Amino acid sequence: MSTKVNRRTKIVATIGPASESADAIGRLLEAGVDVFRLNFSHGSVDQHAAVADRIRKQSAVHGRYVGILADLQGPKIRISSFSAGSIKLSVGDRFRLDSHLGEDDGDQRGVSFSYLPMLDSLEQGDVLLLDDGRIRLRVDDVEEAAVDCTVTVGGKLGSKKGINRLGGGIAAPALTEKDIDDIAGLGRIGPDYVAISFVSSLEDIEHAKALLAAQNLSVAVIAKIERAEVVADEDILNGILGASDGVMVARGDLGVEVGDAELIGIQKDLISRARRRDRLVITATQMMESMISSSMPTRAEVFDVANAVLDGTDAVMLSAETAVGEYPVEVVKAMADAALGAERHPVARTSRYRLERQFESAQETIAMSAIYAANHYSNVRGIACLTESGTTPLLMSRLSSGLPIFALSDKPSTLSKLSLCRGVIPLYFDAVSFEKEDIELRAIEYLRDNDLLSKGDALLMTRGEVVGTAGGTNMMKILPVK
Ligand code: PGA
Ligand code: MN
Repeated sequence: MSTKVNRRTKIVATIGPASESADAIGRLLEAGVDVFRLNFSHGSVDQHAAVADRIRKQSAVHGRYVGILADLQGPKIRISSFSAGSIKLSVGDRFRLDSHLGEDDGDQRGVSFSYLPMLDSLEQGDVLLLDDGRIRLRVDDVEEAAVDCTVTVGGKLGSKKGINRLGGGIAAPALTEKDIDDIAGLGRIGPDYVAISFVSSLEDIEHAKALLAAQNLSVAVIAKIERAEVVADEDILNGILGASDGVMVARGDLGVEVGDAELIGIQKDLISRARRRDRLVITATQMMESMISSSMPTRAEVFDVANAVLDGTDAVMLSAETAVGEYPVEVVKAMADAALGAERHPVARTSRYRLERQFESAQETIAMSAIYAANHYSNVRGIACLTESGTTPLLMSRLSSGLPIFALSDKPSTLSKLSLCRGVIPLYFDAVSFEKEDIELRAIEYLRDNDLLSKGDALLMTRGEVVGTAGGTNMMKILPVK
C-alpha cells in the first residue's frame, strides 16, 4: 500500500498532454496526487473518458482511491485569433474588439471575441484585462457589436487570451451550451466532483445539480469562486456555499478581477467560511507556476503552498504545471513537501473544537468529540470511522488535528469522494462481511497490517450501532492496538 499517511493536505493535478498517458498517471499517483482534474476547456468528452479509464485502472494498480474532478469551462470570455498568431501592443495604441471580424482575422488594429452580450455590461472608462491582466485596455466607446479601446498597459498579445473587467461584473450565465452538452456526457466519465466555473449565484449551482440529477449522476459540486461581485456580496457567497459541496478559490480569474493584494484576505476568508460550513475547499492556480519549466520551485511558491495549508485548505491544485509542464512528477513532490512542512506547525494541528456551537446530530456530536478526545490523549495515533456516506470523516476533517482519519467503507464512490478531504485516508473495508463482534478487531488488524498503526498505539474508532446505515454514527471507543 503506497498510501501517503503523513500528508493531510490533498493534491489536485490537472491532466494534459504532459500527464495523460497511463504511465504518467501512474507516476503522478506514486508522487502523491489525490485527485485528477479533467479540464473541459480543452479536449472532448471522448478524450476525457479515455483518461478517466486510465486513472481508474492506475488507481486500482496502486491500491489508492483517487478522485476525478470534471472542471467545466463556463463562460470564459476570450478574444479570437490573430492571423499572425500574436501582436505587440504599445501604450497609447488604439485597439478594437470587434465581433464583425473573422475568427482568425485579428491584427494590430483589432480582434474578434467570443461573447457578444459582454457589451451590455461595459461602459466608457471601464478597464479590460487581457491575458490575466498582462494587457490593459481602457474602454473609450461601446458600440452595437464592438468596443473601441486605448492600450494602457502594452505587451505581446496572443490568440484566444481571456478577457476580464477590473472589478468584475461582466454578466454571463454560469452554464454555457457547451457545459450543458458536457454534463450530458459525464455519465461516461463518472466523476466524483464537478466544478462549475464563474458561478454568480446559488441558482447556477441548483441548475447544475438539476442537470446532473437528470443524468443520474451522484457527484459533489464544487463552485469556482472567480468573480469579483461574488466575493463582494456576503449573501451571494453564503448562498453559493450553502448550495454546493465545496468551493475552489480560483485565483486565476479572481486575482485578475480584484488584484492580488485583495486576494490574500479573500483566500483566508473563503477557506475559513468553507470549513465552518462543513464544505470542501481547493486553493488553485499558479501555486508552483515556475515549475512549468524549472525542476524546482521558488521559495515564494513553497511559501504560497504552505500559506494555503496554514489557512486550512483541503487541497492545493496544479494546473499548467502538470498539464503541459516539463516537470509534472517533480512539481507534485515539491508541493507535497511544502504541504508537509506547513503541517508540522502547531497551528495546523490544534483546534478550537467549535466551542461556541450547538451540534445538530448524534453523528456531528460524535465526530467533534472524537477529534477533541484524540487530540488530547497522546496514546491515540489515529481515528477510524466506519462510514457509509462519508459524512462523519468530512465533519471530523473540518477540525484541525495532527492525526490521520481513516475512513473505512465498502462503498467505492464514498471512498473516492473523500479524496479531497484534508486528513482523511479512504480505505476499503467491508465491515458487514465480518461477524458483528469481530468488526473492531478486524479493523485494527487491517490498519496494523498495512503499517498505518503499530502495536502499542491506541485507535479511536467511531461507528454506528448497526453497521451499514448512513447517518447512524453514535458510538466512539478507544481501542488498544495489539
Ligand atoms: P481555470 O480556473 O483554470 O479554469 O480558469 C481556475 C482559476 O481561474 O483560477
Ligand atoms: Mn478560471
